[in-house]
Amino acid sequence: MAAPTRDLAELLASARHAVILTGAGVSTESGIPDFRSPGGIWETVDPMEVGSLTTFLRTPERFWSFHRPRFDAVDSVAPNPAHMAVAELERRGIVKALITQNIDGLHRRAGSTDPIEVHGTLDRGVCLRCDAYVARDELLARADASGDGVPRCSACGFAMKSGVVLFGEQLPYEPITRAFAAADRADVMLVIGSSLLVTPVSTLPQVVLNSGGRIAILTEGDTPYDAHCAVRLRGKAGQQMAEVIDHLDRTADQTPA
Ligand SMILES: [Zn+2]
Repeated sequence: MAAPTRDLAELLASARHAVILTGAGVSTESGIPDFRSPGGIWETVDPMEVGSLTTFLRTPERFWSFHRPRFDAVDSVAPNPAHMAVAELERRGIVKALITQNIDGLHRRAGSTDPIEVHGTLDRGVCLRCDAYVARDELLARADASGDGVPRCSACGFAMKSGVVLFGEQLPYEPITRAFAAADRADVMLVIGSSLLVTPVSTLPQVVLNSGGRIAILTEGDTPYDAHCAVRLRGKAGQQMAEVIDHLDRTADQTPA
């Protein structure tokens, strides 16, 4: 009987330098909606508009009125079995790098030590005028203490944004450089929960393919790379990634001492 999760376990076990790339789909089972899919908090607002750099610069109080609740939303959820499996693959030394498009911090909470967060993070605030940084707790304290919900830079008084990359904003140089370096070294890339439609992250699997590496994809929907997969899994990630770990455990048990 065909077992795609076993095929994936074997692919990962055979890798010299496996890299994982995750998108919104890895966190939907934790209750964080993918705003590109129907349902959730984004149904009544246009995230491309309210979450844009233009809105932040023109009307920071409008930006923050929608952005502030995201911190609480992330705090109220927990990592799911897919995040746990990714962290476990790193602990076992099978996966050498984790690249994520998510800003929810759930990979870190699951135990991943150094996720490459190409779309930024909610963990800090930054001033776009003077580059000052503050930790997340300080950022939220300032937002809550201000009359209009906008945290401000103590050095220059400018409105602060979170470390999340906004629509219309450049991706941060350091993480995206690290992501491409990781893809460059990868002989196997596993994509979980990303539809691979947003550049430049969408080109990372092509980097792996170009150097003769193999890719595996686990998503609910289609991706542009479906015809190029060594292993293709469909559906939700949690249960299937837990099965991958089980297969690896069983293989390890059968290995003669
Ligand atoms: Zn400043």
